[in-house]
Amino acid sequence: MKQISRRDFLKLGGLSLLTSGALSFEGQFEKYKEQPIIYQGSSHFKRVALTVDDCYLVTMLQKLEEILDRHPEAKVTLFPVGKALLNNQQKDPGIWNRFYNNGHEIGYHSYDHTNPQVVSPENLVADFDQWLNALREVLDEEPTVRFARPPFGNASPSFLHMCKARGVVPTLWSTGWGGETENVVKYTVPKIKNGDIVLLHTRKSEIEATAQALPILAELGIQPVTISRIYLDWLKEQNETAGCYADPFSLSRTCIE
Ligand SMILES: [Zn+2]
Repeated sequence: MKQISRRDFLKLGGLSLLTSGALSFEGQFEKYKEQPIIYQGSSHFKRVALTVDDCYLVTMLQKLEEILDRHPEAKVTLFPVGKALLNNQQKDPGIWNRFYNNGHEIGYHSYDHTNPQVVSPENLVADFDQWLNALREVLDEEPTVRFARPPFGNASPSFLHMCKARGVVPTLWSTGWGGETENVVKYTVPKIKNGDIVLLHTRKSEIEATAQALPILAELGIQPVTISRIYLDWLKEQNETAGCYADPFSLSRTCIE
């Protein structure tokens, strides 16, 4: 995937405000006054996002790493809590760097998994900063963080405030691979749709399901990509209107109605 700078990324988000369809300017303003929450990407592209929440168990992260080593085309997004960042770095120094340097993405999921519903907007911004500092501590380089997933999927007003204040996109999911591995592989995985955002945790059954799902996805011609890629596909879809085309990777070909 071509690297996109943070500036381009933000610029692109801004462009979608201007080119998002046939609504009047006021209509578009209304539409985007509240930050959109992303649940899934575009159905036009054969891509999905596998996202792993919490990331408490280092052994399961290591297992995931092994699986991904066998599928270099597949990228995932990790949403670890801050405490797991620090704990797992102690247990396996460099583990986060290895994921990050291999092109996987890392997003915010709170410092200690407190429900955002019971945290004030100000304290949630402070929580993001504490989490980001933990991430900085475990990575060799300044991380790029674009997405935030609320604990318990609770995109509360305080959570959305934090996202706005820190310029990250609130991210939920459209499907999950929880449950018995055998059933997930047999019934859930084959039903995957373009643009799906799959929720996973570092549970043995779900990591095992992922191991078995990757060859199935390859067979279907569906590529697991980062949330950034899924989001850019989604923005691209928003930007595409009749007689008007926007390529997320070349910002010159956009149009404004
Ligand atoms: Zn969680």
